[in-house]
Order: sequence, then C-alpha cells, then structure tokens
Amino acid sequence: MHHFAYRDDILHAEDVSLEAIADAVGTPFYAYSRATLLRHYDVLARALADLNPLIAYSVKASPNIALIALLARRGAGADVVSGGELMRALKAGVPPGRIVFSGVGKTREEMRLALEAGIHQFNVESEGELGALNEVALAMGAVAPIAFRINPDVKAGGHEKISTGKAEDKFGVPIARARAIYGAAARLQGVAVKGVDLHIGSQISDLDPFRIAFSRVAELVMDLRADGHAIERLDVGGGLAVPYGNNGDPPHPEQYAAVVREIAAPQGLRLIIEPGRLIAANAGVLVSRVLYVKEGAARRILVIDAGMNDLIRPAFYDAYHAIEPARRKPGPTSPCDVVGPVCESSDRFAKDRPLPELGAGDLLAFMTAGAYGASQASEYNSRPLVPEVLVAGARFDVIRRRPTFDEMIARESLPPS
Ligand SMILES: *Cc1c(COP(=O)(O)O)cnc(C)c1O
Repeated sequence: MHHFAYRDDILHAEDVSLEAIADAVGTPFYAYSRATLLRHYDVLARALADLNPLIAYSVKASPNIALIALLARRGAGADVVSGGELMRALKAGVPPGRIVFSGVGKTREEMRLALEAGIHQFNVESEGELGALNEVALAMGAVAPIAFRINPDVKAGGHEKISTGKAEDKFGVPIARARAIYGAAARLQGVAVKGVDLHIGSQISDLDPFRIAFSRVAELVMDLRADGHAIERLDVGGGLAVPYGNNGDPPHPEQYAAVVREIAAPQGLRLIIEPGRLIAANAGVLVSRVLYVKEGAARRILVIDAGMNDLIRPAFYDAYHAIEPARRKPGPTSPCDVVGPVCESSDRFAKDRPLPELGAGDLLAFMTAGAYGASQASEYNSRPLVPEVLVAGARFDVIRRRPTFDEMIARESLPPS
C-alpha cells in the first residue's frame, strides 16, 4: 500500500501533484511519501510487537538523513554497512544503542568510529575481522558487542546478484565452522559475544528459505548455548520482497513475522531485524520528463531525462518498475522502449512496455523506486545527482538539492605542472 494515486487524472504523492514538484525542482527527481514510509514501518512494528524487536532500518536502501530521522523518531534503529552510513545514522538522531554495523569489509577506522559512538552490535563476518576488531577495541580500552553473521547455505533472493546466504557467497561464516569461531571469540578480551546474525538475500518472495535458514540457526543457538556462550540476541537481517507490479503479492509482514516468531520466541532471544526495501521501496518514485519520441526500427522509443545513473536497478538486476504518466492519458497504448540519455545500451528502463501516447515534455513516474534507487545513483556521464523531495500531506520539502556543475567538479583539481 502506498500514497501515490491519481486525483482527477493527475498523479499525486499524498496531496501534492508530481507536476507541482517538477515545476519547483525540475526533473528528474525522487519523491518520497512520508505517510507510506511510516506506514510500512508501523505494519512491521505491529506484526512483531510481542517480540519487542530492535527494528534497525537498513540505511543503504535509502540513506537520506531526513528519511532515517523520520524512522528514528518512530523508534527505529539503523543497520549500517560503512562509516559513512554510521555518520548518517548518528546525524539523523538514531541513538547509538540502536545501531548495528554489518558488512564483510569493515576497516579498522570504521570500527574505531563505531566503538567511539557506542553502537549496539557489530555483525562480524570472518575470523580476520574478529581479530582486527578485538585489537581495535583493546587499544581503545573498549569491548565490542558482537554477533557472527552465519552463512546458512540457503538459496534465496529475487536475483542472483542479491542472494547472500549460499555457501559460495562472500557473506558470513560457514555454519559448519560457527562453533569453532565462537569458541575463538570467547577467548578474546576485546569482544563480547551477544548473539547470532544472518541475512540471506533481498527481494525474497517465498517464506521457505527464511524458514530453513532460521531453523538451521535456531539449532546453532542451542549448540552454542550448550558450549557455554550467552547467546541473547538474534538478528534475522532483512530481505522480505515488495510488490513491483509484475511479481504478484509477496508474503505479508504478518506472515513473515509468524516465521520469525517461531525461531525467536521459544529461545527467548532479543530480536533484531534489518528491513530496507520493505520500508522504503514503495515510499518513493523517480519522476522524469520525456525529451524525445523516436520511431525505432522495432518500436517506439521514449528518450527521457533520467538515466541508468539515476536508477540502475533495471540495468543491474533486470528489475521491473511500473511506469505511470504523471497525467493520465486516455486512449490506446502502444509498445514502447523507455531509455535514458547515458551512452550505454543497458541504459534502458523498459522494453516493449505498453504505454499510452506520450510526447516530448510529458512527465512519467517510475514506481517503487524508493529503495536502492537514489542510494545506488552515480554521476556517470557527469550527470549531477538528482534532488530528493519528501512529501507530507500537502507540503513538500527538498531533502537533497540538485548540485550545480561547479559543485560536482569542486573536489577535483588540476596538478600544478
Ligand atoms: C541490504 C541489507 C539489508 C536490507 O535488505 P532488504 O532486502 O532491503 O530488506 C539487511 N541487512 C544486511 C546485512 C544487508 O546487507
């Protein structure tokens, strides 16, 4: 459910027309709906309320500090995967005690920053990282609360590139090695073992991989406790799928919560969950303007002013985004390709998509672009990052403005010779 809908044939974000935002900030831009973002958080929070979880929003899904701050005020924590994301979470007002730090390649500098802040938990992914974290903590006179990310060898995720829980993936420690690694950690003075963690992939539309992975980890928790480790926390990661308009209805958060409850409740584990896409995806759209209509050899081609650098999911993951005209067009549709201006054949958002008669100057919206949209954008082809706008009822605020060309180039310099 989201708050992007037509009113008198004009597409609105809550009570603001996308045309009005385009007039104010130009195109392309990302627009987010505050009500949608909070609704998704609330639905998940309610579904898991009896478990009193730490809901650590996965910042990489959509990292604007205004969005993190909205969620933080609602009670969310943050799951960060870099020093930069840690800084964003802190700046947005997330209490350090609600921040978990994930990722396979944390640097010592990032560890120091997180220890100084006093975060809730490091999700450690290798013995090498464990050794480094122990050394950094000892040097600071600190103790790092840790969980190990367990690789349960389960295939899951909407695309090969977003599967993270198979044995061959780079993530986590192999479940077969887990007991030995926890044993090693227990002998170190700079870390304190608190729990277990997993994250098996993203855009997972079937509950079975979760069920299998969770039950493997539940067994591991019993083994670890038998070995004498005080396992208090279970971090189940993120990964639940959202509807993109071509994939039916993924499981409801209530159904997912039931699967989580089966593993977390009987063992009395404090639950941590790291949702990203589930909270942000349907809360954002990318709005772009048609520049040219070409009659291609195969079919009509709409050339728009957004490119793969602004929204890379179609090029990267063959992802589907529904495309809605900002002003509803009556009459028949015809198959179109929708392409951007970037000098790559993969700069194509849709192929053979039935669309109404759109002409130069018309606006269109890519739906469900709130997660892994702006966050994966780049300046490829020297195209400045596009603005982000937050809509709340009848008001909208620019939460990231469009940089000037000078700003884009400002960090570069010519060598003196
Ligand atoms: C990306 C990521 C998430 C969020 O995944 P979603 O599919 O967006 O819910 C959670 N935890 C970790 C460790 C991640 O890398």
